[in-house]
Amino acid sequence: MARKLLMLSGLASVVLAVVTYAAPVSLAGASVSPAQETTTAQSASAPHGTSVVPMPADLKGKAKVLAPPPGGWSVPSQRNYTITASCQSHAAAIRQGAAAWQGLREGGGTPIECRNGYITDCGGGSNVVGCNWGAGQRIALYMGGVNDDALLVAHEFGHNWYGHSTVRCAAWDSPTTVMSPTICN
Ligand SMILES: [Zn+2]
Repeated sequence: MARKLLMLSGLASVVLAVVTYAAPVSLAGASVSPAQETTTAQSASAPHGTSVVPMPADLKGKAKVLAPPPGGWSVPSQRNYTITASCQSHAAAIRQGAAAWQGLREGGGTPIECRNGYITDCGGGSNVVGCNWGAGQRIALYMGGVNDDALLVAHEFGHNWYGHSTVRCAAWDSPTTVMSPTICN
């Protein structure tokens, strides 16, 4: 099973944005918890993508600037990761993204690989910027594929435990918003 980020067509995302923004309360108060999504994620045999799209006009300048709590959000289990050679220049952003999750420690565990373009071996989709195979077997990142590299990292690490939420644009507000299927630039 692989989880990934990909880019939707701009038109599709705008249409989606208009439709979904009609119910901002339900977005902000999404009741589906990451823990609940885990069951869904682990039963899915096919990978699914997370999109990177232009920031919808109605959300520009309105994004909340929140952050994970000190020490990160609690998670169901402790995991480890290793920054491989291809990611040395992105180590700071990777550590920042990892810090979102309380149960992540550096050393051993999931190898983190960095690419210089979209990821094409994640099971389909186009413009994929991140992939987590096997809930932490390995992770690939297209650093620079989104404006907020650390958010991309936090998202892919989040797939160690969680599937996607239904939030429209990924943000740092909560585990649920981090696990949005879409990162909006
Ligand atoms: Zn994802």
